[in-house]
Amino acid sequence: MSTKDYLEKDYYAVLGVPKTATAEEIKKAYRKLARQYHPDTNQGDTAKETKFKEISEANDILSDSKRRKEYDDARTLFGSGVGGQRPGGGGFPFDFGDLFGGTGQQSGQSGGAGERLGDLFGGLFNRGGGGGGTRTTSATRPRRGQDVESEVTLTFTEAVEGTTVSLRLTSSAACAACTGTGAKAGTTPRVCPTCEGTGAASRNLGNFAFSEPCRDCKGRGLIVDDPCPVCEGSGRAKSTRTIQARIPAGVADGQRVKLKGKGAPGENGGPAGDLYIQTNVKQHAVFGRMGDNLTITVPVTFTEAALGAEIKVPILKGMPVTLRIPAGTPNGRTFRVRGRGVTRKDGTKGDLLASVEVTVPKTLDDKSRELLNEFNTATAGEDPRAELIQRARSE
Ligand SMILES: [Zn+2]
Ligand SMILES: [Zn+2]
Repeated sequence: MSTKDYLEKDYYAVLGVPKTATAEEIKKAYRKLARQYHPDTNQGDTAKETKFKEISEANDILSDSKRRKEYDDARTLFGSGVGGQRPGGGGFPFDFGDLFGGTGQQSGQSGGAGERLGDLFGGLFNRGGGGGGTRTTSATRPRRGQDVESEVTLTFTEAVEGTTVSLRLTSSAACAACTGTGAKAGTTPRVCPTCEGTGAASRNLGNFAFSEPCRDCKGRGLIVDDPCPVCEGSGRAKSTRTIQARIPAGVADGQRVKLKGKGAPGENGGPAGDLYIQTNVKQHAVFGRMGDNLTITVPVTFTEAALGAEIKVPILKGMPVTLRIPAGTPNGRTFRVRGRGVTRKDGTKGDLLASVEVTVPKTLDDKSRELLNEFNTATAGEDPRAELIQRARSE
């Protein structure tokens, strides 16, 4: 029987007895249910057969005083299998891996709230013959730090190149005055007598029992008689800190960047939460973005487009590059300048997509006008709209 089984199965609920049931009450409940669900009287009914197996398993554990104690201890230590608070469920207050992996770390942490409380209550919680393991109340369990949301506005270039930003973060942390216990300095909270420090209470509804947070201690497992004046007994405080966060190259407007472990610090040896940064990216006067590519519109003269030319195209960072456009380039054609775009995750770069826009001179001097008139005469036979008019008619 694994710890996980212990946490996921509520044997008391299966037998419909309270957690405080005597051995005699458990025996009675088992006999009654066993008769009701026994396969001999319910042939072929698989649902009842499954139920019978559950009842037998619950009885195996609860009728054996040694195994019952193990089961109770496991559920007390790691939180009872409260509905919606199972391992892996969203509401579970901590990570199992971290708890098991972090036990040594927790006791090695000098002066931490966890250790202090552990020392205080160690005598109470020492398990007989259990190798001196210390039971933890729900208030001293390792707790993962909160995830923190933040927002940052970047220039276009910062977003493309990546940058480091300074962020002021406010998160909830253990109150420094009472190290998170909620008890006035110099006093200690006492173990909640109602739930015996588990933070969970069992309630019976007919023959169905379930766990819910203890009402007397609000699930903390501890009762504070003399509240800490700083946090008014909550044990929580707002902490503000400034961190340097590295925004990777290539983030887009509206993207959420996750920085693992940069959220609120954990408590009692628990891991830190994560930081999520919402990025707002300002527009650039010249460049646009299409995924990993940068875009730019480059004006060219009619003659450059008609005769072909080598033109200078600005890039986001560095000297302009030379782009050769062939003779007869139509307006709006896009040219690809390789490797001048946005840095990707793997370090490679997107391209710069340069679209040409043919410009028309607003004013002409005499010489230019004369030459254009000459050009006009030379190309008099060409009507660019002839086909258009033809097609418009044929419909
Ligand atoms: Zn309680
Ligand atoms: Zn406090």
